[in-house]
Amino acid sequence: MLTLSKTNKSSAVHRAGWILVDPWTIIKNGYVRVCNGLIEEVGQGHPGGGQVIDHGPGVIMPCFVNAHTHLELCALKGRALSDKGFRLWVEQLINLRDAEEMENLLKGAKQGVKELIESGTGVVGEISTLGITKDILISSSLAGIWFKEYLGNNFSAEIRCNEKKRRIVTSLAAHAPHTTAPELLMNLKNVAKKNNLPLSIHVAESEDEIRFLSTGKGEWADFLSERGIGFSGWGLPVESSVKYLNRLGLLDKKTLTVHLIHADKDDFEILLRNNVFVCLCFRSNHYLHQRLPDLTGMLDVGLKPCLGTDSLACVDSLSMFDETAFISNAFPLIPPSEILAMATINGANALNVEDRFGTLDPGKNGQFFYVPVNVSGRKNLLEAIVNKEFTSDCKVIT
Ligand SMILES: [Zn+2]
Repeated sequence: MLTLSKTNKSSAVHRAGWILVDPWTIIKNGYVRVCNGLIEEVGQGHPGGGQVIDHGPGVIMPCFVNAHTHLELCALKGRALSDKGFRLWVEQLINLRDAEEMENLLKGAKQGVKELIESGTGVVGEISTLGITKDILISSSLAGIWFKEYLGNNFSAEIRCNEKKRRIVTSLAAHAPHTTAPELLMNLKNVAKKNNLPLSIHVAESEDEIRFLSTGKGEWADFLSERGIGFSGWGLPVESSVKYLNRLGLLDKKTLTVHLIHADKDDFEILLRNNVFVCLCFRSNHYLHQRLPDLTGMLDVGLKPCLGTDSLACVDSLSMFDETAFISNAFPLIPPSEILAMATINGANALNVEDRFGTLDPGKNGQFFYVPVNVSGRKNLLEAIVNKEFTSDCKVIT
Protein backbone atom coordinates (compact mmCIF):
# COMPACT_ATOMS: atom_id res chain seq x y z
CA MET A 1 0.00 0.00 0.00
CA LEU A 2 1.17 3.52 -0.78
CA THR A 3 1.95 5.87 2.08
CA LEU A 4 0.34 9.25 1.67
CA SER A 5 1.88 12.54 2.55
CA LYS A 6 -0.23 14.76 4.80
CA THR A 7 0.45 17.62 2.45
CA ASN A 8 -0.64 15.71 -0.64
CA LYS A 9 -3.68 17.74 -1.77
CA SER A 10 -4.90 14.92 -4.06
CA SER A 11 -5.47 12.63 -1.07
CA ALA A 12 -8.43 12.70 1.29
CA VAL A 13 -10.00 10.50 3.92
CA HIS A 14 -13.80 10.30 4.05
CA ARG A 15 -15.32 8.95 7.23
CA ALA A 16 -18.90 8.13 8.23
CA GLY A 17 -20.94 6.08 10.71
CA TRP A 18 -21.01 3.25 8.17
CA ILE A 19 -19.05 2.21 5.10
CA LEU A 20 -20.83 -0.12 2.71
CA VAL A 21 -17.98 -1.69 0.73
CA ASP A 22 -20.51 -3.99 -0.95
CA PRO A 23 -23.90 -5.34 0.21
CA TRP A 24 -22.16 -8.09 2.23
CA THR A 25 -19.21 -6.11 3.60
CA ILE A 26 -20.17 -3.33 5.99
CA ILE A 27 -17.85 -1.44 8.33
CA LYS A 28 -19.17 0.42 11.37
CA ASN A 29 -17.46 3.74 12.08
CA GLY A 30 -15.20 3.53 9.07
CA TYR A 31 -13.35 5.49 6.46
CA VAL A 32 -12.38 5.47 2.80
CA ARG A 33 -9.01 6.87 1.83
CA VAL A 34 -8.78 8.24 -1.71
CA CYS A 35 -5.54 9.08 -3.46
CA ASN A 36 -5.26 10.55 -6.95
CA GLY A 37 -8.88 9.72 -7.71
CA LEU A 38 -8.69 6.07 -6.65
CA ILE A 39 -9.71 4.30 -3.44
CA GLU A 40 -6.52 3.40 -1.66
CA GLU A 41 -7.78 1.97 1.61
CA VAL A 42 -11.03 1.19 3.42
CA GLY A 43 -10.84 0.72 7.19
CA GLN A 44 -12.38 1.04 10.63
CA GLY A 45 -11.75 3.58 13.39
CA HIS A 46 -9.49 6.58 13.08
CA PRO A 47 -7.24 6.78 10.05
CA GLY A 48 -3.82 8.32 10.28
CA GLY A 49 -2.57 10.85 7.74
CA GLY A 50 -4.36 12.87 5.09
CA GLN A 51 -7.16 15.36 5.32
CA VAL A 52 -10.16 13.79 7.12
CA ILE A 53 -13.67 14.78 6.05
CA ASP A 54 -16.36 13.59 8.45
CA HIS A 55 -19.61 13.20 6.54
CA GLY A 56 -21.76 12.20 9.54
CA PRO A 57 -23.53 9.17 11.07
CA GLY A 58 -24.95 7.87 7.78
CA VAL A 59 -23.37 5.59 5.18
CA ILE A 60 -20.78 6.01 2.46
CA MET A 61 -21.63 3.60 -0.35
CA PRO A 62 -20.79 2.88 -4.01
CA CYS A 63 -22.57 4.91 -6.68
CA PHE A 64 -25.62 3.33 -8.23
CA VAL A 65 -25.46 1.89 -11.72
CA ASN A 66 -28.56 2.78 -13.74
CA ALA A 67 -28.14 0.38 -16.64
CA HIS A 68 -31.09 1.51 -18.78
CA THR A 69 -32.10 5.11 -19.44
CA HIS A 70 -33.44 7.09 -22.40
CA LEU A 71 -32.35 10.62 -21.52
CA GLU A 72 -33.62 12.08 -24.80
CA LEU A 73 -37.16 11.41 -23.53
CA CYS A 74 -36.76 13.45 -20.30
CA ALA A 75 -38.56 16.39 -21.94
CA LEU A 76 -41.70 14.25 -22.13
CA LYS A 77 -41.97 13.94 -18.34
CA GLY A 78 -45.52 14.48 -17.09
CA ARG A 79 -46.99 14.70 -20.61
CA ALA A 80 -49.78 12.24 -19.75
CA LEU A 81 -48.75 9.56 -22.22
CA SER A 82 -51.39 6.89 -22.72
CA ASP A 83 -51.48 3.99 -20.29
CA LYS A 84 -54.09 2.22 -22.46
CA GLY A 85 -51.77 -0.37 -23.96
CA PHE A 86 -48.17 -0.48 -25.09
CA ARG A 87 -48.75 0.13 -28.81
CA LEU A 88 -50.74 3.33 -28.17
CA TRP A 89 -48.07 4.49 -25.74
CA VAL A 90 -45.29 3.91 -28.30
CA GLU A 91 -47.27 5.70 -31.00
CA GLN A 92 -47.93 8.71 -28.76
CA LEU A 93 -44.33 8.73 -27.57
CA ILE A 94 -42.93 8.88 -31.12
CA ASN A 95 -45.38 11.62 -32.12
CA LEU A 96 -44.61 13.74 -29.05
CA ARG A 97 -40.84 13.27 -29.40
CA ASP A 98 -40.88 14.11 -33.10
CA ALA A 99 -42.93 17.26 -32.43
CA GLU A 100 -40.62 18.49 -29.66
CA GLU A 101 -38.00 21.14 -30.36
CA MET A 102 -34.46 19.72 -30.32
CA GLU A 103 -33.51 22.41 -27.81
CA ASN A 104 -36.12 21.10 -25.35
CA LEU A 105 -34.99 17.49 -25.80
CA LEU A 106 -31.40 18.52 -25.02
CA LYS A 107 -32.47 20.65 -22.06
CA GLY A 108 -34.49 17.72 -20.70
CA ALA A 109 -31.53 15.35 -21.09
CA LYS A 110 -29.24 17.75 -19.20
CA GLN A 111 -31.80 17.99 -16.42
CA GLY A 112 -31.99 14.18 -16.41
CA VAL A 113 -28.23 13.87 -15.97
CA LYS A 114 -28.42 16.29 -13.02
CA GLU A 115 -31.20 14.21 -11.44
CA LEU A 116 -29.21 11.00 -11.92
CA ILE A 117 -26.11 12.42 -10.25
CA GLU A 118 -27.99 14.05 -7.37
CA SER A 119 -29.75 10.77 -6.56
CA GLY A 120 -26.50 8.80 -6.35
CA THR A 121 -26.05 7.35 -9.83
CA GLY A 122 -22.44 7.31 -11.04
CA VAL A 123 -22.69 4.93 -14.00
CA VAL A 124 -25.30 4.83 -16.71
CA GLY A 125 -26.34 2.69 -19.67
CA GLU A 126 -27.94 5.26 -21.94
CA ILE A 127 -29.96 4.26 -25.02
CA SER A 128 -30.10 6.93 -27.71
CA THR A 129 -32.37 6.59 -30.74
CA LEU A 130 -31.84 10.13 -31.99
CA GLY A 131 -28.14 10.12 -31.15
CA ILE A 132 -28.28 13.42 -29.22
CA THR A 133 -27.20 12.52 -25.68
CA LYS A 134 -23.57 11.45 -26.12
CA ASP A 135 -21.96 14.88 -25.66
CA ILE A 136 -24.16 15.59 -22.64
CA LEU A 137 -22.89 12.42 -20.97
CA ILE A 138 -19.29 13.13 -21.91
CA SER A 139 -19.43 16.58 -20.32
CA SER A 140 -20.98 15.18 -17.10
CA SER A 141 -19.27 13.28 -14.27
CA LEU A 142 -21.09 10.06 -15.21
CA ALA A 143 -19.31 6.98 -16.52
CA GLY A 144 -20.80 4.14 -18.53
CA ILE A 145 -21.96 3.24 -22.01
CA TRP A 146 -23.77 5.33 -24.59
CA PHE A 147 -25.69 2.86 -26.77
CA LYS A 148 -26.71 4.12 -30.21
CA GLU A 149 -29.97 2.35 -30.97
CA TYR A 150 -31.13 0.97 -34.32
CA LEU A 151 -34.36 -0.62 -35.50
CA GLY A 152 -36.22 -1.50 -38.71
CA ASN A 153 -34.31 -2.82 -41.71
CA ASN A 154 -31.40 -0.42 -42.28
CA PHE A 155 -27.94 -0.45 -40.84
CA SER A 156 -25.03 1.93 -41.11
CA ALA A 157 -23.35 1.93 -37.70
CA GLU A 158 -19.80 3.01 -37.09
CA ILE A 159 -17.99 2.33 -33.88
CA ARG A 160 -14.45 3.24 -32.89
CA CYS A 161 -12.38 0.87 -30.80
CA ASN A 162 -10.33 3.55 -29.06
CA GLU A 163 -13.43 4.71 -27.21
CA LYS A 164 -13.22 1.62 -25.03
CA LYS A 165 -10.73 3.37 -22.79
CA ARG A 166 -12.90 6.44 -22.25
CA ARG A 167 -15.16 7.21 -19.30
CA ILE A 168 -18.15 7.12 -21.66
CA VAL A 169 -17.84 4.24 -24.10
CA THR A 170 -19.86 4.09 -27.32
CA SER A 171 -21.61 0.88 -28.25
CA LEU A 172 -24.74 -0.31 -30.05
CA ALA A 173 -28.31 -1.19 -29.13
CA ALA A 174 -30.79 -3.16 -31.17
CA HIS A 175 -34.26 -1.92 -30.26
CA ALA A 176 -36.10 -5.26 -29.94
CA PRO A 177 -36.84 -8.52 -31.78
CA HIS A 178 -40.30 -7.27 -32.87
CA THR A 179 -39.05 -3.97 -34.35
CA THR A 180 -35.74 -4.97 -35.89
CA ALA A 181 -34.96 -7.21 -38.87
CA PRO A 182 -33.02 -10.40 -38.01
CA GLU A 183 -30.21 -9.39 -40.38
CA LEU A 184 -29.90 -6.05 -38.60
CA LEU A 185 -29.96 -7.76 -35.18
CA MET A 186 -27.10 -10.01 -36.27
CA ASN A 187 -25.14 -7.16 -37.88
CA LEU A 188 -25.34 -5.05 -34.74
CA LYS A 189 -24.23 -7.98 -32.61
CA ASN A 190 -21.33 -8.72 -34.95
CA VAL A 191 -20.04 -5.14 -34.87
CA ALA A 192 -20.33 -4.92 -31.07
CA LYS A 193 -18.66 -8.33 -30.70
CA LYS A 194 -15.79 -7.41 -33.01
CA ASN A 195 -15.11 -4.44 -30.73
CA ASN A 196 -15.60 -6.51 -27.56
CA LEU A 197 -18.39 -4.17 -26.43
CA PRO A 198 -21.82 -4.96 -24.93
CA LEU A 199 -24.95 -4.87 -27.09
CA SER A 200 -28.17 -3.75 -25.42
CA ILE A 201 -31.60 -4.98 -26.54
CA HIS A 202 -35.18 -4.81 -25.18
CA VAL A 203 -36.50 -8.39 -24.95
CA ALA A 204 -39.88 -9.94 -24.10
CA GLU A 205 -41.33 -6.65 -22.89
CA SER A 206 -44.92 -6.64 -24.16
CA GLU A 207 -47.81 -8.88 -25.15
CA ASP A 208 -47.69 -7.13 -28.54
CA GLU A 209 -44.13 -8.41 -29.03
CA ILE A 210 -45.01 -12.00 -28.09
CA ARG A 211 -48.16 -12.05 -30.28
CA PHE A 212 -46.37 -10.53 -33.28
CA LEU A 213 -43.37 -12.89 -33.10
CA SER A 214 -45.57 -15.96 -32.65
CA THR A 215 -48.03 -15.10 -35.47
CA GLY A 216 -46.52 -12.40 -37.70
CA LYS A 217 -49.92 -10.69 -37.47
CA GLY A 218 -51.99 -8.42 -35.24
CA GLU A 219 -51.93 -4.80 -34.15
CA TRP A 220 -48.14 -4.64 -34.00
CA ALA A 221 -47.91 -5.89 -37.61
CA ASP A 222 -50.29 -3.08 -38.63
CA PHE A 223 -48.26 -0.56 -36.64
CA LEU A 224 -44.99 -1.53 -38.38
CA SER A 225 -46.67 -1.42 -41.79
CA GLU A 226 -48.08 2.06 -41.06
CA ARG A 227 -44.56 3.22 -40.25
CA GLY A 228 -43.17 1.74 -43.46
CA ILE A 229 -41.22 -1.05 -41.74
CA GLY A 230 -41.64 -4.16 -43.91
CA PHE A 231 -41.32 -7.49 -42.10
CA SER A 232 -42.18 -10.03 -44.80
CA GLY A 233 -38.54 -11.17 -44.89
CA TRP A 234 -38.20 -11.59 -41.12
CA GLY A 235 -39.08 -15.31 -41.15
CA LEU A 236 -42.10 -15.01 -38.85
CA PRO A 237 -43.57 -16.73 -36.95
CA VAL A 238 -40.71 -17.64 -34.62
CA GLU A 239 -40.31 -19.14 -31.15
CA SER A 240 -40.11 -17.13 -27.88
CA SER A 241 -38.13 -13.88 -27.97
CA VAL A 242 -35.25 -15.40 -25.98
CA LYS A 243 -35.10 -18.62 -28.03
CA TYR A 244 -35.29 -16.61 -31.26
CA LEU A 245 -32.40 -14.33 -30.24
CA ASN A 246 -30.42 -17.36 -29.11
CA ARG A 247 -30.89 -18.99 -32.52
CA LEU A 248 -29.70 -15.77 -34.20
CA GLY A 249 -26.52 -15.88 -32.09
CA LEU A 250 -27.28 -12.72 -30.14
CA LEU A 251 -27.03 -14.12 -26.65
CA ASP A 252 -23.61 -14.15 -25.01
CA LYS A 253 -21.70 -12.54 -22.14
CA LYS A 254 -21.58 -9.23 -24.03
CA THR A 255 -25.34 -8.88 -24.42
CA LEU A 256 -27.53 -6.89 -22.03
CA THR A 257 -31.16 -7.99 -22.34
CA VAL A 258 -33.67 -5.52 -20.93
CA HIS A 259 -37.13 -6.16 -19.39
CA LEU A 260 -37.90 -9.92 -19.84
CA ILE A 261 -41.44 -9.59 -18.49
CA HIS A 262 -42.72 -12.39 -20.74
CA ALA A 263 -39.96 -14.93 -20.12
CA ASP A 264 -40.10 -18.27 -18.33
CA LYS A 265 -37.73 -20.71 -16.64
CA ASP A 266 -36.60 -22.17 -19.99
CA ASP A 267 -35.68 -18.67 -21.12
CA PHE A 268 -33.89 -17.90 -17.83
CA GLU A 269 -31.81 -21.07 -18.20
CA ILE A 270 -30.82 -20.12 -21.76
CA LEU A 271 -29.76 -16.68 -20.50
CA LEU A 272 -27.79 -18.22 -17.64
CA ARG A 273 -26.10 -20.82 -19.86
CA ASN A 274 -24.96 -18.09 -22.25
CA ASN A 275 -23.82 -15.75 -19.41
CA VAL A 276 -26.19 -13.05 -20.70
CA PHE A 277 -26.76 -9.97 -18.55
CA VAL A 278 -30.29 -9.01 -17.58
CA CYS A 279 -31.53 -5.50 -16.79
CA LEU A 280 -34.93 -5.01 -15.14
CA CYS A 281 -37.01 -1.82 -15.00
CA PHE A 282 -39.78 -2.53 -12.51
CA ARG A 283 -41.53 0.85 -12.23
CA SER A 284 -41.63 1.20 -16.01
CA ASN A 285 -43.03 -2.33 -16.40
CA HIS A 286 -45.66 -1.65 -13.77
CA TYR A 287 -46.79 1.55 -15.49
CA LEU A 288 -46.71 0.35 -19.11
CA HIS A 289 -47.70 -3.29 -18.75
CA GLN A 290 -49.20 -3.71 -15.26
CA ARG A 291 -46.97 -6.75 -14.98
CA LEU A 292 -43.55 -7.40 -13.41
CA PRO A 293 -40.76 -9.77 -14.45
CA ASP A 294 -40.38 -12.98 -12.44
CA LEU A 295 -37.51 -11.73 -10.28
CA THR A 296 -37.74 -14.63 -7.84
CA GLY A 297 -37.55 -17.16 -10.70
CA MET A 298 -34.53 -15.37 -12.16
CA LEU A 299 -32.67 -15.35 -8.84
CA ASP A 300 -33.60 -19.01 -8.25
CA VAL A 301 -31.86 -20.14 -11.45
CA GLY A 302 -28.80 -18.01 -10.60
CA LEU A 303 -29.20 -14.94 -12.81
CA LYS A 304 -27.87 -11.69 -11.33
CA PRO A 305 -30.09 -8.95 -12.75
CA CYS A 306 -29.16 -5.29 -12.71
CA LEU A 307 -31.54 -2.35 -12.71
CA GLY A 308 -32.56 0.55 -14.91
CA THR A 309 -35.12 3.27 -14.42
CA ASP A 310 -36.10 3.45 -18.11
CA SER A 311 -37.28 6.89 -19.29
CA LEU A 312 -39.19 9.77 -17.73
CA ALA A 313 -41.90 9.06 -20.31
CA CYS A 314 -42.93 6.07 -18.17
CA VAL A 315 -41.56 6.70 -14.66
CA ASP A 316 -41.71 9.86 -12.59
CA SER A 317 -38.05 9.93 -11.50
CA LEU A 318 -34.60 8.69 -12.50
CA SER A 319 -33.78 7.89 -8.87
CA MET A 320 -32.46 4.40 -8.25
CA PHE A 321 -33.72 4.77 -4.66
CA ASP A 322 -37.25 4.91 -6.06
CA GLU A 323 -36.49 1.76 -8.03
CA THR A 324 -35.08 -0.16 -5.03
CA ALA A 325 -37.96 0.98 -2.79
CA PHE A 326 -40.46 -0.24 -5.40
CA ILE A 327 -38.76 -3.65 -5.60
CA SER A 328 -38.56 -3.96 -1.83
CA ASN A 329 -42.30 -3.32 -1.63
CA ALA A 330 -43.21 -5.64 -4.52
CA PHE A 331 -40.91 -8.50 -3.46
CA PRO A 332 -40.79 -8.37 0.38
CA LEU A 333 -39.07 -11.77 0.61
CA ILE A 334 -36.03 -10.72 -1.41
CA PRO A 335 -33.25 -9.61 0.96
CA PRO A 336 -32.21 -5.94 0.77
CA SER A 337 -28.60 -7.06 0.13
CA GLU A 338 -29.77 -8.70 -3.12
CA ILE A 339 -31.63 -5.55 -4.19
CA LEU A 340 -28.59 -3.39 -3.42
CA ALA A 341 -26.34 -5.73 -5.41
CA MET A 342 -28.72 -5.34 -8.35
CA ALA A 343 -28.42 -1.55 -8.07
CA THR A 344 -24.61 -1.53 -7.80
CA ILE A 345 -22.19 -4.40 -8.58
CA ASN A 346 -24.54 -6.33 -10.92
CA GLY A 347 -24.92 -3.20 -13.05
CA ALA A 348 -21.17 -2.57 -12.99
CA ASN A 349 -20.62 -6.11 -14.29
CA ALA A 350 -23.26 -5.67 -17.00
CA LEU A 351 -21.72 -2.40 -18.24
CA ASN A 352 -18.19 -3.77 -18.02
CA VAL A 353 -17.01 -1.22 -15.43
CA GLU A 354 -16.62 -3.57 -12.44
CA ASP A 355 -12.90 -2.80 -12.31
CA ARG A 356 -13.76 0.83 -11.43
CA PHE A 357 -17.30 0.87 -9.96
CA GLY A 358 -19.89 -1.23 -8.13
CA THR A 359 -18.07 -1.64 -4.79
CA LEU A 360 -15.70 0.42 -2.63
CA ASP A 361 -12.74 -1.95 -2.96
CA PRO A 362 -9.23 -0.45 -3.12
CA GLY A 363 -8.15 0.37 -6.67
CA LYS A 364 -11.65 1.43 -7.77
CA ASN A 365 -12.77 4.93 -8.65
CA GLY A 366 -12.82 7.39 -5.75
CA GLN A 367 -16.32 8.52 -6.65
CA PHE A 368 -19.07 7.43 -4.24
CA PHE A 369 -21.87 8.95 -2.21
CA TYR A 370 -23.07 9.60 1.30
CA VAL A 371 -26.61 8.69 2.34
CA PRO A 372 -27.87 10.34 5.57
CA VAL A 373 -29.58 7.29 7.11
CA ASN A 374 -29.78 7.06 10.87
CA VAL A 375 -29.66 3.42 11.96
CA SER A 376 -28.39 1.26 14.80
CA GLY A 377 -27.39 -1.99 13.06
CA ARG A 378 -26.28 -3.59 9.81
CA LYS A 379 -29.68 -5.09 8.95
CA ASN A 380 -31.45 -1.76 9.54
CA LEU A 381 -28.82 -0.07 7.40
CA LEU A 382 -29.56 -2.13 4.29
CA GLU A 383 -33.31 -1.78 4.80
CA ALA A 384 -33.02 1.98 5.29
CA ILE A 385 -31.04 2.35 2.05
CA VAL A 386 -33.27 0.23 -0.20
CA ASN A 387 -36.46 1.69 1.29
CA LYS A 388 -35.20 5.28 0.99
CA GLU A 389 -35.57 5.94 4.72
CA PHE A 390 -33.90 9.32 4.98
CA THR A 391 -35.12 12.86 4.66
CA SER A 392 -32.16 15.10 3.88
CA ASP A 393 -30.23 15.05 0.59
CA CYS A 394 -27.54 12.56 -0.41
CA LYS A 395 -24.10 13.93 -1.03
CA VAL A 396 -21.97 12.97 -4.01
CA ILE A 397 -18.28 12.55 -3.07
CA THR A 398 -15.71 12.83 -5.82
ZN1 LIG B 1 -35.84 1.14 -23.05
